[in-house]
Amino acid sequence: MGGVIGVYNSPNAAVLTQIGLFSVQHRGQESCGIASYDEKEKTFNLRRGSGLVISGLGAAALAELKGSCAIGHVRYPTSGAKSGLQDAQPFIFNTAQGDIAIALSGNIINGAALVKQIRRRGGILQHSSETELIIHLLAQENKPLEPALKDALARVEGGFGAVILSGGRLIAARDRHGIRPLVLGRLADGGYIISSETSAVEVMGGSYVRDIKPAEMLVIENGRLKSSFYAKPGKMQNCIFEQVYLSRPDSVIRGQSVANARMEMGKRLARQMKDIKADIVIPVPDSGIFAAMGFAEEAKIPFEIGLVRNHYLGRSFIKSAQSVRETAVKLKLLPIDDIINGKNIVLVDDSLVRGTTSRRLIKILREHGARKVHFAVTSPPIIAPCFYGINTPSGKELIACTHTREQIKKALGADSVYFLTAAHAQEACGGREGAQGFCSSCFTGKYIYKISKRG
Ligand code: SF4
Repeated sequence: MGGVIGVYNSPNAAVLTQIGLFSVQHRGQESCGIASYDEKEKTFNLRRGSGLVISGLGAAALAELKGSCAIGHVRYPTSGAKSGLQDAQPFIFNTAQGDIAIALSGNIINGAALVKQIRRRGGILQHSSETELIIHLLAQENKPLEPALKDALARVEGGFGAVILSGGRLIAARDRHGIRPLVLGRLADGGYIISSETSAVEVMGGSYVRDIKPAEMLVIENGRLKSSFYAKPGKMQNCIFEQVYLSRPDSVIRGQSVANARMEMGKRLARQMKDIKADIVIPVPDSGIFAAMGFAEEAKIPFEIGLVRNHYLGRSFIKSAQSVRETAVKLKLLPIDDIINGKNIVLVDDSLVRGTTSRRLIKILREHGARKVHFAVTSPPIIAPCFYGINTPSGKELIACTHTREQIKKALGADSVYFLTAAHAQEACGGREGAQGFCSSCFTGKYIYKISKRG
């Protein structure tokens, strides 16, 4: 996962970048960072911190980040990557093409082959994150920055959105299938914003202009935009999990709010489950809320908040509380007796991964008096891991990979289990582009690229 922000030509670029990072904080909480370019001193400034933006990038850090251009990153480590500050982005490198700062959200999947090539040519790698590979590839090209960067990007496979700062020049690049989102926004005073999500553009006081296209390299310099392609764009393959779970509900993808896409997914699942009899529909908060609203509206079953999320538990607490798992789930999602007791319930969640939390939740609902619990998942069964930037576990840990639907029902202790079909999910999330052009590798196990692991 992870999120990126880029700001071009704003007097408080670092402050604006920080505001943007707050808006994409849900995409990563492991670490955060901002690099700014100080045009007066002709130098980069870099500040990185652990944890949330509010604690990792405080006022003292921002005061050091001078300049009118900046890039920022929030990180969620993907499989195999190290945690901690060493891999906190942005990274800054001194190359023959000058000092370059880079931040990337997503995942590069041909890292193993690229690492071998880079090491063979004397490159010394410092991070477990694949982001630095782009700069190594670029630095090995005996060309000016833009053609060298194009050549480097053309050798990279995966799902990513990248922001790059070179002097006062801001560059945005997106993977050639548009798997990970990246958008362009405009500021009223002539500046520009690059962001992983439209919600950040709005909060930063900008207006959405357009999506960065698959395989596009957009250069913003001297107040002008220069668009070109580093490779032949591939078939559009948006990650549908942006709408299912990852993106903020107020973000817009394919001209449709994520909240609306989730409601549409809920409505379609209700049509699939048209014979179900229940007293109430309750969501697994927060990402299941809009889907449950859509479900309840379509099924004409009352929507109730039977579980309330505790927003004050950090990720590290949740991790450390794994030894008392039932308590950890109850602390995170608080059941409300009066709503649950004696009811036949449709419990709506956005997705089913391992099934451990769902099993505990269903058990808690029963302990609080639920008569029946029908588990409604508003996405298709996940049967294969994601290698394009979403941190899903290996196939053997995915409950829908190892169990039939009947076995899942038993394992979760539910009265019934339903999944939204892939066709209905794509129809609900299609927006202005229609029900085409989605990645579905985690539903099918068929990947866009051959997968290799970094050595
Ligand atoms: S494999 Fe699944 S989670 Fe990963 S990019 Fe594709 S749709 Fe998204």
